[in-house]
Amino acid sequence: MRKRMIRMVGLCLALILLLGQAVPVSAAVPKISAAVTRSNVLALANAYDKDGAYLLKSSLMKGRNILEWWGTGTSLWEGMDTGVHEECHAYSFMNGSYNSEAIYLGNQKYIRVSYTDVYPSRKMGMTIPQRLRTFRWSTYVGNPEPNLASDVQGVYGLLNEFTAYYWGMHMGLSLYSYLRKNKASTWEWMTYINGGANGRLAYAEFKYYILNYMYYAKQHYPAIYRGIKNNRNFVNTYAYIEKKFAAQNKKFLNYINKLGWKISGDWCCDPVSGYRLNIYQGDYRRLVKEMSKKKYKNLL
Ligand SMILES: [Zn+2]
Repeated sequence: MRKRMIRMVGLCLALILLLGQAVPVSAAVPKISAAVTRSNVLALANAYDKDGAYLLKSSLMKGRNILEWWGTGTSLWEGMDTGVHEECHAYSFMNGSYNSEAIYLGNQKYIRVSYTDVYPSRKMGMTIPQRLRTFRWSTYVGNPEPNLASDVQGVYGLLNEFTAYYWGMHMGLSLYSYLRKNKASTWEWMTYINGGANGRLAYAEFKYYILNYMYYAKQHYPAIYRGIKNNRNFVNTYAYIEKKFAAQNKKFLNYINKLGWKISGDWCCDPVSGYRLNIYQGDYRRLVKEMSKKKYKNLL
């Protein structure tokens, strides 16, 4: 009996050591000045965003170096948004196949979206008028690097990017109470708001690219258009992520309100310190206004 118990204890210890090695998580929530280590990244994600933590853990289990997304001088909490964004791409790839991508839906679930024929997003990108060529236009659809997914995988690459921006922003936003607890400086709040504003703009940009992709396909590539339109998993997944993303943007504006910062034109200002930062309101509104046109509404 005793021998068996000792064996059991030994087995448990071995398991703990094994798991501990694969996913090291320190129990305490790391301080705001804590070093960027795997265990601190996971502990922070675990404490504030279970989905972000799951995506990061999934990557660690596959031996990925998640810390590569924290550039020199980037603090632990600042890099969480980008870390989750990039590992969301990795997750999509790892759970996809040669003819499908896995789109993360939350609660440790994903959906496989099969690819249908596409045309390069670049072609659609060139039709975007100058006034709507915002921050991400050049990188993703205007002048993309060779083989970039948002270009060569067409609308499926755009959905992938849309989703990664959603989950990255989800992680970043979730740190609101962490920054509050840690009495973040005005400068740190500016970084936080800047992250949220970036995500919010990405919502409008990628929603617009996806709609415009379909509009262009309808005119120039009717067979491709039909293939995508009849791909139920694509249509439903886009609608699902879009809804969640729109709600998340509202949450972001609520946080700005709660902080007591004021939005005026493109700017978000702290009435106490007088500091202000650009939150791209003009770009955001122009894109939203464009999407309210009948030609896009009909597509939806
Ligand atoms: Zn990305």
